[in-house]
Amino acid sequence: MATSPIAGKVQTVLGPVDPQTLGPTITHEHLLIDFRVVFQQPGEASQAGLAEEKLSLANLGWIRHNWNSSIDNLMLIDESVAIAEARHFFNAGGGTMVDVTSNGLGRDPLALARISRATGLNVVMGGGHYIGATHPEEFERASAEEIASSIIRDIEDGVGNTGIRTGIVGEVGVSAPWSETERKTVHAAVIAQVQTGAPVLIHPGRDEELPLRVLEAVAEWGGDLTHTVMGHIERTIYSRSALKRLAETGAFLNFDLFGHDSSFYPLAPHSYMPNDAQRMDQIQFLIDEGHVDQVLLAHDVCSKHRLKQYGGHGWDHIIARVVPQMLARGISREHVDRMLVDNPRRMLTFA
Ligand SMILES: [Zn+2]
Repeated sequence: MATSPIAGKVQTVLGPVDPQTLGPTITHEHLLIDFRVVFQQPGEASQAGLAEEKLSLANLGWIRHNWNSSIDNLMLIDESVAIAEARHFFNAGGGTMVDVTSNGLGRDPLALARISRATGLNVVMGGGHYIGATHPEEFERASAEEIASSIIRDIEDGVGNTGIRTGIVGEVGVSAPWSETERKTVHAAVIAQVQTGAPVLIHPGRDEELPLRVLEAVAEWGGDLTHTVMGHIERTIYSRSALKRLAETGAFLNFDLFGHDSSFYPLAPHSYMPNDAQRMDQIQFLIDEGHVDQVLLAHDVCSKHRLKQYGGHGWDHIIARVVPQMLARGISREHVDRMLVDNPRRMLTFA
């Protein structure tokens, strides 16, 4: 490692920056995304029409309970909406957004650069590959090294001919069960990390043991767990012992679904989306166990209904509502700053 010319810096869509300039940072967001890969056709004939409707006040109640059964809800494709919504984060005191819209989700380097300029926010762009359902057919035969070469090119030279470089490899998708091509894309992310010093960020499927298995493989392939982020902790890990074992690996643990309260949403039998209070309970446990330096925070906005202008909580939710609630619960200002400023800075800095 430490071979990268940007070692010690954070790579944003407008170029490398001094890590000290990041400010409060949310570490898993999607300014723009085409998230139709998770679209689920409603089973009932009477609901089928709703799937095709534009989001409106008339169907927002239904969408909140069936967020991935509305095609319009899964399309964040309007740059002016992204700018207006990202400004809420900036105006609340936010400094940096990590956009982990990886290959398979409609990643848009030039638009991210324009949004960064328009809002004054640092934007760090993701790379690598989302879950197997988005992989090109060639990945069946490709080697991890072959897949890694384009991830490395995106970091070192920029995406296509845009000159805009990725600053993190992720979100790298892993399904439950972990598929063969997904093993290759995680391995490829690790190869890219070893060669460039980039951080890696994983999206795990809903299986409590899967995050640990993935981190074991990352370590076996030579990855640096202290520079690797396991995402979606709150909807993947419910038991305290599994959470403790994961924390002991040294990886960053991303509580990245703040504001996403869909406990009423029909998921797999033993899986549910906790609410913010439950997220904070898990974080308090990690703080008590001495793991505050591994906790990261984000909203993972990936659908319209999470944005303010469509009736959602918006990108200032963590700063405007979660942080005051953490302080009220007795989490210290110092610990809040570690989770929101210091840990993301350390995570995003190239080795
Ligand atoms: Zn995401």
